[in-house]
Amino acid sequence: MATKHVYFFGPGVAEGHKGMKNFLGGKGANLAEMAGIGLPVPPGFTVSTEVCDLFYKNRKRIPEAVKKEIVKNLARLEKAAGKKLGDPADPLLVSIRSGARASMPGMMDTVLNLGLNDRTAAALVAKTGNARFVYDSYRRFVQMYGDVVLGLRPVDKDDIDPFEAIMERKKRERGIHDDTGLTAEDLKDLVARYKAAIKESMGHEFPDDPMKQLWGAVGAVFSSWMNDRAIAYRKLYDIPESWGTAVNVQMMVFGNMGADSGTGVAFTRDAATGENVFYGEYLMNAQGEDVVAGTRTPLPIANLKKDDRRSYAELERIRHVLERHFREMMDIEFTIERGRLYMLQCRTGKRTAFAAIKIAVDMVDEKLISEKEGLSRIEPDQLNQLLRPVFDLTEKEAAVKGGRLLTKGLNAGPGAATGRIVFNSVDAEAWAKRHEKVILTRIETSPEDIKGMSAAEGILTARGGMTSHAALVARQMGKVCVAGCGDLAVDYARRTMTVRGKALKEGDWISIDGTSGQVIEGKISTRPSEVLQVLIDRTLDPAKAPVYRTFAKIMAWADKHRTLKIRTNADQPDQSLNAVAFGAEGIGLCRTEHMFFGEGKIGPMREMILADTLEAREAALAKLLPLQRLDFAGIFEVMDGRPVTIRTIDPPLHEFLPHEEKDQRALAETMGIPYEKVRDRVSSLHEFNPMLGLRGCRLGIIYPEITAMQARAIFEAAAQTKKKGIPVEPEVMIPLVGHVKELEDQARIVRETAEAVMREQGVRFKYLVGTMIEIPRGALTADEIASAAEFFSFGTNDLTQTTLGLSRDDAGRFLIPYLQKDIYAKDPFEVIDRAGVGQLMRMAVDKGRRTRPGIKLGICGEHGGDPSSIEFCHLLGLNYVSCSPFRVPIARLAAARAALANPPGAKAAKPASRRPVKAGPKAKAKPAAAAKKPVRKR
Ligand code: PEP
Ligand code: MG
Repeated sequence: MATKHVYFFGPGVAEGHKGMKNFLGGKGANLAEMAGIGLPVPPGFTVSTEVCDLFYKNRKRIPEAVKKEIVKNLARLEKAAGKKLGDPADPLLVSIRSGARASMPGMMDTVLNLGLNDRTAAALVAKTGNARFVYDSYRRFVQMYGDVVLGLRPVDKDDIDPFEAIMERKKRERGIHDDTGLTAEDLKDLVARYKAAIKESMGHEFPDDPMKQLWGAVGAVFSSWMNDRAIAYRKLYDIPESWGTAVNVQMMVFGNMGADSGTGVAFTRDAATGENVFYGEYLMNAQGEDVVAGTRTPLPIANLKKDDRRSYAELERIRHVLERHFREMMDIEFTIERGRLYMLQCRTGKRTAFAAIKIAVDMVDEKLISEKEGLSRIEPDQLNQLLRPVFDLTEKEAAVKGGRLLTKGLNAGPGAATGRIVFNSVDAEAWAKRHEKVILTRIETSPEDIKGMSAAEGILTARGGMTSHAALVARQMGKVCVAGCGDLAVDYARRTMTVRGKALKEGDWISIDGTSGQVIEGKISTRPSEVLQVLIDRTLDPAKAPVYRTFAKIMAWADKHRTLKIRTNADQPDQSLNAVAFGAEGIGLCRTEHMFFGEGKIGPMREMILADTLEAREAALAKLLPLQRLDFAGIFEVMDGRPVTIRTIDPPLHEFLPHEEKDQRALAETMGIPYEKVRDRVSSLHEFNPMLGLRGCRLGIIYPEITAMQARAIFEAAAQTKKKGIPVEPEVMIPLVGHVKELEDQARIVRETAEAVMREQGVRFKYLVGTMIEIPRGALTADEIASAAEFFSFGTNDLTQTTLGLSRDDAGRFLIPYLQKDIYAKDPFEVIDRAGVGQLMRMAVDKGRRTRPGIKLGICGEHGGDPSSIEFCHLLGLNYVSCSPFRVPIARLAAARAALANPPGAKAAKPASRRPVKAGPKAKAKPAAAAKKPVRKR
């Protein structure tokens, strides 16, 4: 049997269902589902995503077999609608819309009111008696078709839309400001002018034949899968090109038929806060594009009770039906045509991180979903948004009191953003590249602005509502957004904006509060989020912090399901304290070299490095010993018995020495040695490849007294802490081991020191000695190394560097083109390269366990805070991951999701990280506070 490519839906019939998203796209599958459960959906059919592929293979033409299916389904649609396309007596009009597997709002094209020509328009006027409505629909159709199908649109960022220009001219001629002032005759004249403009630029007539219009529109919607915006969006959200889009052809219903008609978009809960309230907007006597394009500012949905009580009640009923049926917060589009309600779309609603968390928790409480489903609905990186800064209240109040409050718009994307004004997307991107913080300020945004929005700190618009493009996309990106600031006059050409007589220009500072909607002139500093105020600053009572409490609940569920332990990379007591507050269960990496830069330590450290003799070195080390001991004791106390992995010195020694002549002279003077001596020692330490040179365990092998001093500091601190009645669990880790003999050499020093300290101090404590696996030979000979190691910790920063032969310090310069060319799908320093580095890790795990079945395994490279890499670590069966303190909550959730997505015994379960769409964009989503440390930390 020939493959079926077209699926019909209509009253009481639906050939598809919600499980067919891959094939029918999200919109098509859900239209079928809604029709199937008896909701009022206008009849139509969906041309499958497979046809998109066939279309491109067929030189951008619809295959004949598919055309036949479309014609057959059009006949069914005509029957269900009771009218025919092109019928000069009672014409059917249809919409042609895209619909991919994953929602790509506004990225592809749509054609509405298809089927209109002069004859059908006249017929509709006769039927409806509403000439204004008909010619308004007709001019919109010619405009959309001209743009989408025939390609008559602006080419440059400063160009004016050719149809808008004609419209403006017409309004000027008529002396009116608003489109609503145009009469039927004016609109009819606009149709003629639009058509003439098409003829003039395209060289051919506007097609009057509705079937011709249909083929053109279906082809154009398939073609829009490959437009620049769609390609950029796919890249940003990891949507594969191979998915293609479906095309939905559906009977038009009209929200612009008069005062008893309207249209709106809504969420079944508040998409910004997650509150369980109906949340949306509508406009009476309007078409859907008016609501989303932001050309008119819509009314809140609650108002509809007054405008059309029956439709409002029906919408409320549908809201509950949908939530119970889909067990999700849904985003809907509806139209009321002469008092009759139609559902045009439903899909899973996009939401802020706040809302995602609240909705997940509430739905679990409402028993709509299970705790596990609740967890699966929150992307780990979304938690970053909860850690975002808010404005410093005192500064903000002073700004407002001082008259700097410019205006108030809609609080479309919560959070605080401060930056310099730019007026277009291209500039936003360019300025952001120069590390300027920018606020993208637009009259309204459109899908073309997506890159600029992504680069900006925040988005400010003069027009549009809570569900306008700016608002939707900003929330999805986790950007701060204030939309619909009605009294903002933006002049793109002059690059200025005026608010109530106050003019600001490009480059001026502005602050926007996406939680209150306030727009404030100038810069305002920011303060930590509610979660941070409770956990870190301890300045806020959890009882007064609802966001924190919801966050804490999610964290508690995550902890119930995860099997991986979460540790942190910290080398100071305060960092350790923060990490524990975030839920860290131990320290996975204490980089001792960081401590040498602390107060009073760099001097003796330099003395040690500059020493010529063993005695001189030991004298310097003796000065360092008490300082290091103090650091370790501080950490042990804070960690209160949790395991603490301390790594012996790792970086090349020259990193500790001054390189400028004036600094070398100053050092020589303080040390009372000749400048030349310092200069010569620094240059003698120069290496061509320091990262492959005298570093890691090699330092301890050449200078065993350094290892001995560090081991003594660790164990004396441990003894001291234990004597205070605080439990300790030190784990000493030797870096950069490639040969078991290296580890044996260093482990012997560590163990001898431990025994000596315990004897001297008259106290015993448990400790472990282990190693990092961070160079390929370490992984390849992990069976041998495990004979001397009680634990392995994967140093995936160096393991990536050495496996890929890619300098971690220099790769930034050429990695971007590598990623653009898809040579590596993700930055291998951010996400574990499973095929290469991952293979070595798997080998090391297997070999290590073969020699020492109970060997403790962890990861402390930066990948330990990346959700996809955490999942890989879960799959490898590691005991823990270790990440920077601010990523600990993210790691807790990622570990739980990994455990839930890969239940024990389920072979080759689908990795969570391969989910098609990430909740946030790749870049820029991480707030400074929660951003991972750069890979190279020194
Ligand atoms: C690593 O290499 O992954 C690691 C944690 O060590 P460092 O970043 O300190 O080299
Ligand atoms: Mg390393």
